[in-house]
Amino acid sequence: PAAAAPRDIGAAVRAALAAARAVTGGRNADYIPYLADVPPELCGVAVVTADGTVDTAGDTGYGFAIESISKVMTLALVMEEIGPEAVRDRIGADPTGLPFNSVIALELHDGKPLSPLVNAGAIATASLVPGATAEEKWRRILAFQSKMAGTGIRLSQEVNRSEQTTNFHNCAIAWLLFSAGALEGDPLVALDVYTRQCSTLVTCSDLAMMGATLANGGVNPATGERVIRAQNVPHILAEMMMEGLYTASGDFAFTVGLPGKSGVGGGIMAVAPGDLAIATFSPPLDDAGNSVRGLVAIAELAKSLNLNIFRG
Ligand code: GLN
Repeated sequence: PAAAAPRDIGAAVRAALAAARAVTGGRNADYIPYLADVPPELCGVAVVTADGTVDTAGDTGYGFAIESISKVMTLALVMEEIGPEAVRDRIGADPTGLPFNSVIALELHDGKPLSPLVNAGAIATASLVPGATAEEKWRRILAFQSKMAGTGIRLSQEVNRSEQTTNFHNCAIAWLLFSAGALEGDPLVALDVYTRQCSTLVTCSDLAMMGATLANGGVNPATGERVIRAQNVPHILAEMMMEGLYTASGDFAFTVGLPGKSGVGGGIMAVAPGDLAIATFSPPLDDAGNSVRGLVAIAELAKSLNLNIFRG
């Protein structure tokens, strides 16, 4: 048979952006006041390969709130520190089948959050970040996000203020975790650190590089730094496949077949292991909390670049 034509990733990225821009519908998240005011027409697509080639189209330089995608970085950080088995014992490794901020999963499983990629599990994971104070934990989280992105990631004071003054539901989750003995230390410290980790700004390009660090077995392809142990990467990707897109994770696995993680800021990061990472940004979300245009762009790319990991 003739050799496959070389992939034109740049053309695929531009086509995915065009397909995404043609889509309407969805609404910005508004339970965090800052997010309601981000221009909804913004749309960007970036791909970074495991060897560091970057292709972008659209609004890929706009800094948006990382939100839930930060759960992947904090999970990776804690896994480096305590190992994957301890993470599984303390947090769990199963989908909840419930919305990202559900408290019901905690009731059903004796206070065990099940997944580090939903709020309960993510707040419990944040409590396991080493450090005697919130500041110490926070410095480690910010440094880890920066190492994955290969650039200095910053906290947005504006996003953080908006979140810290409205995070009543997450505060309740933190106390429920505490009462079940599922959280290390002071629940308000875990909540503070978790809220800050959601309030950093990333561009689509940053996010694609973070994903490419996972696609490249834990080594940032731009800096060459090993950020995550190679043996931890499959555990992180498995969590993403099971719970990365909230209650739509099963649909995403069924249709796209890539581990991904979304955030209510409108970002989505998807990883084709050993090959590349995709990052998309567009604020309007569907009912599950996933970016409507981002889902379309990633589905397009998975098809045009033949990325479904179950294809074999
Ligand atoms: N900071 C947000 C929250 O905890 C992140 C949620 C998300 O992106 N799904 O509510």
